[in-house]
Amino acid sequence: MERVIVIRFGEIFLKGKNRDYFESLLIKNIKHAVKDVPHTFSRSQGRYFLENFSEDDEGELLDRLKKVFGIHSLSVADKVPTLATDDFAEIRKSLAVIARSKAEDADGKIRFRVTVKRADKSIPMTSAEIAAALGGTVLQTGAFKVDLKDYECEFKVDIRENGFSFVYTDVLQGAGGLPVGCSGRGMLLLSGGIDSPVAAYLMAKRGMKLFAVHFSSPPYTSDKAKEKVVELKNIVERYAGEIKLFVVPFTDIQLAIHKNCPSNYMITIMRRFMMRIACALAEKYECGALITGESLGQVASQTVESMTCTGATATLPVFRPLIGFDKDEIMDVAKKIGTFDTSILPYEDCCTIFLPKSPAIKPSLKSVEKAESALDVDALIAPALEGVEIY
Ligand code: ATP
Ligand code: MG
Repeated sequence: MERVIVIRFGEIFLKGKNRDYFESLLIKNIKHAVKDVPHTFSRSQGRYFLENFSEDDEGELLDRLKKVFGIHSLSVADKVPTLATDDFAEIRKSLAVIARSKAEDADGKIRFRVTVKRADKSIPMTSAEIAAALGGTVLQTGAFKVDLKDYECEFKVDIRENGFSFVYTDVLQGAGGLPVGCSGRGMLLLSGGIDSPVAAYLMAKRGMKLFAVHFSSPPYTSDKAKEKVVELKNIVERYAGEIKLFVVPFTDIQLAIHKNCPSNYMITIMRRFMMRIACALAEKYECGALITGESLGQVASQTVESMTCTGATATLPVFRPLIGFDKDEIMDVAKKIGTFDTSILPYEDCCTIFLPKSPAIKPSLKSVEKAESALDVDALIAPALEGVEIY
């Protein structure tokens, strides 16, 4: 039997004059997500359909579609000839097969209804009449009883204009959110840790197109650490679409801070440099905001005072989508999106080298600026920006 994937998108963002724009982005993102799996794409009546794919590819297509933001829900349907002249014989066959498989693991009768959508107006019956007639097929299995209001199972039949109908029951949850690209661009500060990939996921979910910057400090950090970050980027890309990754050589800046500034301000000053460099790249690539994986109070560098000191160097808004998340909650999302196992690989991060014994937990901006005044900021940033590698 031929199969079809039915794609529904959220209603809320489609109101008003932005509808065409949102839809064209969503279609582009869907096509990109499944571009190497043979299929045909069509749209009709506020839904999209994937057809003509091989049976073996069905699972892979669903997996990919479940990661496309802006998709509200998905169903896999049987595509059968409508055959109104033959009392909908093919539709009934499909209904019977689905009903029998539902009945297998049910105890007691399943409350059900049949809902018919009829685009083919040449059939001389109303949708409700067709639904009532088709309900008989489901009842024949002996495992169901009709309940139009409080049903456990809804059999849906879309009678289309071209002589075909789609028959299905289950509705799979989509990724929700908004199509990537509809909320501007963001520059993610991507470490190798658990948090920043989750922050990336959440901002992409709200429609941001992502760019990413990673600070690397060879030889203190290894190629393995860099590969890990590239792998994290690849995983997030399944949701967020293509992400350009900038790897910034950070060793000289860290050494200069280490040599010239009080050690308890090491982390704060280092973060200030990260912000400045991220802003410079963000402006070059027309990003409207920075994104970090910070969570309030998680570590010394994530107190209100520390974030005030680091944020002061940013010339763009800094989005911290995890600010109110507990570590457990962040880990749950990381596991769900598939970044967790990569994030916990034990490669050193640039933040773990030259770690002070007692970092300032509540630094004041004045004292940090004073501590930093020993450095020529511009002279340190320029070579770092020149040494950027793009992935
Ligand atoms: P993560 O799990 O994201 O590494 P964390 O809990 O380890 O976060 P920090 O190390 O304090 O926290 O980093 C806070 C944020 O600063 C990170 O979420 C990330 O956005 C940014 N950051 C830290 N280190 C780097 C780095 N080497 N390159 C790019 N961004 C970084
Ligand atoms: Mg980290």
